[in-house]
Amino acid sequence: MFKKILVANRGEIALRIQRACRELGVKAVMVYSEADREAKYVKLAEEAVCIGPAASAQSYLNMPAIISAAEVTDAEAIHPGYGFLSENADFAERVEKSGFQFIGPTPDSIRLMGDKVSAKQAMIRAGVPCVPGSEGALPDDPVQIRRIAKSVGYPVIIKAAGGGGGRGMRVVHTEAALINAVTLTKAEAGTAFGNPEVYLEKFLQNPRHIEIQVLADQHKNAVYLGERDCSMQRRHQKILEEAPAPGINRKLIERIGERCVVACKKMGYRGAGTFEFLYEDGEFYFIEMNTRVQVEHPVTEWVTGIDIVKTQIMVAAGLKLPFTQRQIQINGHAMECRINAEDPYKFTPSPGRVTMWHAPGGPGVRVDSHVYTNYTVPPNYDSMVGKIIVHGDTREQAMARMSTALAEMVVEGIKTNIPLHRELLVDAKFMGGGTNIHYLEHWLEQHKR
Ligand code: ADP
Repeated sequence: MFKKILVANRGEIALRIQRACRELGVKAVMVYSEADREAKYVKLAEEAVCIGPAASAQSYLNMPAIISAAEVTDAEAIHPGYGFLSENADFAERVEKSGFQFIGPTPDSIRLMGDKVSAKQAMIRAGVPCVPGSEGALPDDPVQIRRIAKSVGYPVIIKAAGGGGGRGMRVVHTEAALINAVTLTKAEAGTAFGNPEVYLEKFLQNPRHIEIQVLADQHKNAVYLGERDCSMQRRHQKILEEAPAPGINRKLIERIGERCVVACKKMGYRGAGTFEFLYEDGEFYFIEMNTRVQVEHPVTEWVTGIDIVKTQIMVAAGLKLPFTQRQIQINGHAMECRINAEDPYKFTPSPGRVTMWHAPGGPGVRVDSHVYTNYTVPPNYDSMVGKIIVHGDTREQAMARMSTALAEMVVEGIKTNIPLHRELLVDAKFMGGGTNIHYLEHWLEQHKR
């Protein structure tokens, strides 16, 4: 096991990784920007290094600053968390070339999955079902593009190979709009992602977002940890996640989970990862793989009893996965609400000083947050300030616990989306389970204020 790890992230995930290190008896070096000097995990840290000013480009995305922080503190490995440099293959490569272990997959795996065209081709090779579409990137010839779209069938979606964060996508309903949409998406992709390649897929009308969590070690072992339903989204941003996914046949989950494990073994994947699927009419369609720990990992931790962050660190250190697929059981139901510092209905960010922070508790309640009373949420980063996760024997019990937790939670001084979560938890359709990825946007449209 490592003696010391550097945590190259901020916010709740920095605290989460620090906690995992404590449990493993590993020292955690925290890094922070000038805006995060007062963060809880910095105050709790045995060692902390300032890596630059508030702007992410000069701190959390500043590769030389992070690598020198690891050098001066004698850390052996770097945990990138999520966001920032976590899916940057060049960073992973520089970390390893500088003699540190990157806590995540190899740079090659990150690169393969970071390009959605190559990712999809790898999935097809491993027998993972994908959305029907172009084989690889679209050609330049308009005649050929029209032919591909016609054979897939409208509506189609044009997606950038290098896209991410819900950007670089365009839905096309008619042949008349096709070529213009391809040209525009290519131009945008070139500017935004430095890669003008685009591909085409059938646009699924009412899918759910279902994802499979995997863990793999460096000894050719890989397992899947069941699924998560993350269909509750606004502008492709998840706000509430749960496990297991309501109403999906377990046999179907097993079949898709096993395909994901095959894909991991084929590409020599190591660490934690997530295969994201759209699910419609009993079929799964791969859309992308995230090669890092995800915000919503706690719901899986709770139903499986497996600590995903600790396991990431253990497999990075070369240890074997301490469980086999047969030992992984799904128990009860878990749900997560992301707490964002924003207006609950207009979604404008609401940074500033938190004059009162009171977190809920009780049986089956977990709160992951770096916030405390008198903490100031800086305006420079993502608006997520914490997560409430609950567990119950049944989905009904989990929902009841979440409602109680949301009622107990007090945040003053800034606005949060807690009122929105409270309303969703008593929404009849949500309570019934299995709503699709458009549900929240439709709901917001109907509940405009
Ligand atoms: P990103 O990396 O930008 O998040 P994804 O490929 O994961 O891109 O897609 C983001 C979202 O876009 C999906 O969750 C889904 O809502 C929508 N989407 C992507 N592909 C399709 C498709 N073929 N049909 C319908 N919706 C899609």
